[in-house]
Amino acid sequence: MALTENNQLISINPADGQEVGRVQLTSLDELQQIVEIAHAAYENSGWKERLPHQKSEVLRKIADGLLAKKEFLANLQMKDNGKPLAECRSMVDYAVGAFRYYASAIETLETEVTPPRGDYVSMTVLEPFGVVAAITPWNSPIMNDATKVAPALAAGNAVILKPSEESPLLAPELAKIALEAGLPEGLLQVVQGFGHDLGSALVEHPHVRMVTFTGGTNTGRLIGEAAGRKIIPVALELGGKSPHIVFEDADLEHAVAAVVSGIFGSAGQSCVAGSRLFVQESVYEQVLTAVVERTKKIIVGAPDMNGVEVGPLASFEHRERVKQFVERARKEGGSILCGGQEPDDERLKQGAYYLPTIIEGLSNQSLTCQEEAFGPVLVVLPFKDETDLIKQANDTDFGLACGIWSQNFKKAWRVGRALEAGSVWINTYKQSVTTTPFGGFKDSGIGREKGLNGLKIYTQTKSMFFGLHKNPLPLAK
Ligand code: NAD
Repeated sequence: MALTENNQLISINPADGQEVGRVQLTSLDELQQIVEIAHAAYENSGWKERLPHQKSEVLRKIADGLLAKKEFLANLQMKDNGKPLAECRSMVDYAVGAFRYYASAIETLETEVTPPRGDYVSMTVLEPFGVVAAITPWNSPIMNDATKVAPALAAGNAVILKPSEESPLLAPELAKIALEAGLPEGLLQVVQGFGHDLGSALVEHPHVRMVTFTGGTNTGRLIGEAAGRKIIPVALELGGKSPHIVFEDADLEHAVAAVVSGIFGSAGQSCVAGSRLFVQESVYEQVLTAVVERTKKIIVGAPDMNGVEVGPLASFEHRERVKQFVERARKEGGSILCGGQEPDDERLKQGAYYLPTIIEGLSNQSLTCQEEAFGPVLVVLPFKDETDLIKQANDTDFGLACGIWSQNFKKAWRVGRALEAGSVWINTYKQSVTTTPFGGFKDSGIGREKGLNGLKIYTQTKSMFFGLHKNPLPLAK
């Protein structure tokens, strides 16, 4: 939660409203110095000149450092943003995996020898940009930070990491672990503060030569505009309103379980949450009844409670936004099939809890079906056939992900190709792995993180020619 006092950001545990920790806000003057230090470290520390296997060694040590502090980091994130402990543990594992993956990727990454059209040898090399600004949201700090920092460092850049003002506690721990692992001083620094002033000043700084951002679409637009003026590349991972689709020929039991975890995992605070459920008319009632029944059984409780499935929302302000979203759905004519309120349980009264909520009876054109709630809110819509489904599912500004449940492989493939989404999950949901590109179509972003592509976005290609000729060469055909 973004409370400030004496130039400090105070992190509040959304499970009980208690203070977890404080960090010093970075002033705009300090930001200037920090970027200068990062630039000097990039130029002079020797990091960008290190051979791939030498950088790889440090990245592996960072992974080891994260693993050694797994319980501490998972508990800290749980208190910082309220995610269940089990999810926080798996996010630390994910971060470890990201550093290990990019350690291996940089060590094995090959460039091209290109076909010559004259008497020379031509090839490409990959160069870093210099100082990269990495700006992250509050929902999964350790995972989002690692997804950006590991490949950006592997590519030879310096990184300034700006975590969300809502969850400021994890980023400094990552920077500390990196330093202990032998990363040269100044190469990874953290700045703390709000987006509209500190974040935008960071993006605007002349030494920042690339921006990697995860967050809301409106913020992404502002960052993209600033980057456009500076002519620097950006990677934007933005919001979503992902369709989760159940055809009549699906394994319905499996589909229902995936639909419920696909939206209510992380209390819906996941960019790829399957927040629009489309069910084929012939099985609509059957699937909806099963989804509602399963949802009513979800265990909502303290993030460190055994077996908890849904914890609090990340802040009290965010719960208020989700409440308003559901109120508007009511006004739009939606029927609330379950949830739509805070839990009655007295033990949860001190926290920012909200019950998993299912809404039906709205058209796909409604604001409820078009806007991202980023909370535990599922809207359900029937569809007639494949054509009707594709039209409705694509009728959104977003294009981050989708899920398709069908036992007809050819149909699933056809629909998957027709949907405008960066990730398509067929008979599975929410698989987002370090090894496979991830990003959005349309207003869900540009650029792809993760996988080898997620390393190359932190590099710029340089073409090198070695002349073997004596006389000037004519323009090649
Ligand atoms: P947000 O856009 O409000 O903030 C994200 C970060 O940007 C924060 O660090 C914030 O301080 C900073 N920021 C805000 N304004 C800025 C500006 N003008 N210039 C520079 N930085 C600025 O998003 P949020 O509320 O923290 O996160 C929720 C959003 O993030 C949702 O829309 C969600 O879908 C999206 N998200 C996307 C992904 C993905 O990978 N596609 C993953 C997680 C979250």
